Amino acid sequence: MAVPKVCGIETEFGIQHLGGDGNPVASSSLLVNAYVGGLARAGWDFEDEQPGNDARGFAREGALPPEVETHLVNAVLTNGARYYVDHAHPEYSTPECPDALELVRYDRAGEEILRRSMRAAAQVLPPGQRIVVYKNNSDGKGNSYGCHENYLMDRAVPFSRIARQVMAHFVTRQVFCGAGKVGTETPQAGADVPYQLSQRAEFFEEEVGLETTLKRPIVNTRDEPHADPQRYRRLHVIVGDANLCEVATFLKVGTTAFVLAMIEDEALGSPELVPANPVQAIRQVAADPSLRATIDLTDGRRISALGVQWELLERAVKYAEDQGLGAVGGEAVGRDVLRRWEEVLHGLETDPAEVAGQVDWCAKLQLIEAYRDRHGLDWDDQRLAALDLQYHDLRPERSLFQRLPTEHLVSEEAVLEAVGSPPRGTRAYFRGQCLARWASAITSANWDSLVFDLGTDPLRRVPMMDPLRGTAEHVGALLDACATPAQLVARLSGRG
Ligand code: ATP
Ligand code: MG
Ligand code: MG
Repeated sequence: MAVPKVCGIETEFGIQHLGGDGNPVASSSLLVNAYVGGLARAGWDFEDEQPGNDARGFAREGALPPEVETHLVNAVLTNGARYYVDHAHPEYSTPECPDALELVRYDRAGEEILRRSMRAAAQVLPPGQRIVVYKNNSDGKGNSYGCHENYLMDRAVPFSRIARQVMAHFVTRQVFCGAGKVGTETPQAGADVPYQLSQRAEFFEEEVGLETTLKRPIVNTRDEPHADPQRYRRLHVIVGDANLCEVATFLKVGTTAFVLAMIEDEALGSPELVPANPVQAIRQVAADPSLRATIDLTDGRRISALGVQWELLERAVKYAEDQGLGAVGGEAVGRDVLRRWEEVLHGLETDPAEVAGQVDWCAKLQLIEAYRDRHGLDWDDQRLAALDLQYHDLRPERSLFQRLPTEHLVSEEAVLEAVGSPPRGTRAYFRGQCLARWASAITSANWDSLVFDLGTDPLRRVPMMDPLRGTAEHVGALLDACATPAQLVARLSGRG
């Protein structure tokens, strides 16, 4: 039986420092510090530092943002997330979530944290300066930054099989989870493409590989499980766009969890769907909003991206019947993924405008086409590129996305709750709860461990090697029974 698809999303945000000197590392650090330092002063939260990473945590009381602005920051928040500076971008990595719906909530909480960071930064910046954050994946000048998804997998599954069998999904899922982009930015994508489904697709140059920022591969081989390496793999997926539409995030994660579970359970069926030339195919699918182009499979068939998705859906429905929904988020979430997957494919087939409330590239295209018609603009008009960027602007008063009537899956209250509290269904619960209760006794927080300084040598390391343990159900009563971190550590080591 497939391992439950615990999942997380890392988002590197685009950043602009209006009126600043243009050093993106300093601006990103200031932004993250302004938030984390603000939390520390408000006395809520927090913690720092990962071994092997040269980032330093601040957020201690008194570490005011202006003094630390050029240092890299790396904080772990009480919701179990990591908030830091990577590749000169602010990055928010959600806590591990038990299913796609919970991940939508924590991804949205990340947007809120970035919004609060912009406000906190405005308070410490000189007059006339402002840091602005975009949830997008490229700067329009050929530089791309990532949105990584992470899925828990069984170590026993051979990686070569994962890579071969997931490829068709990664090439075609952009039909519903592409974030849309006006024009192209790389020589390989060609200059005569007015609009693409995906922000990221044109940046992929290899099928399988280790890189994440150069010669990007569609399937990334990075093997850092942040968990027991004998039992688990963390599949690091770098091929996606950051989404604003909640349904798009839900489907991106939900359908991928299905495909991975089917691969793990050898239930994907036949014939195998393997693109003959994945790199060419991913760009070709991106460049075709008509959704009519076909790609070659290794068995000689030609099939459209929608055709591939219909086949995967059919197999997922059968998988759910045969093996249940335990690995893909349980009954409610699993059923909802299947229902929405079908709805979105129907919508896309009929008229992409029908799914403008669910799919970012459709929402954005509608907006841009309306503007283009109204003003009689050519596709290469700078105003369209500006509109594209504005779609992703996280400032509430500037965001074009926020003005659209897109469908929501989580309430505003639930999102705000997720800013400070961890998911209940993974080890992130333990991490977040410990940080909320005993931050001053925690010297280091990682995905797979917490280190406590109890005031008595030596430091005490609490390993968390299983993402499925440390849930509210497992440790809620234990945490409530402990008044101090020393009691917790004693109990965990069987001495209390
Ligand atoms: P980089 O930023 O260089 O890509 P990285 O991929 O190691 O580094 P982090 O930014 O630290 O990543 O984020 C890790 C993400 O993976 C988080 O969203 C976290 O919730 C998730 N995660 C951690 N462990 C697991 C696991 N075993 N299975 C699935 N997801 C995991
Ligand atoms: Mg990361
Ligand atoms: Mg990553």
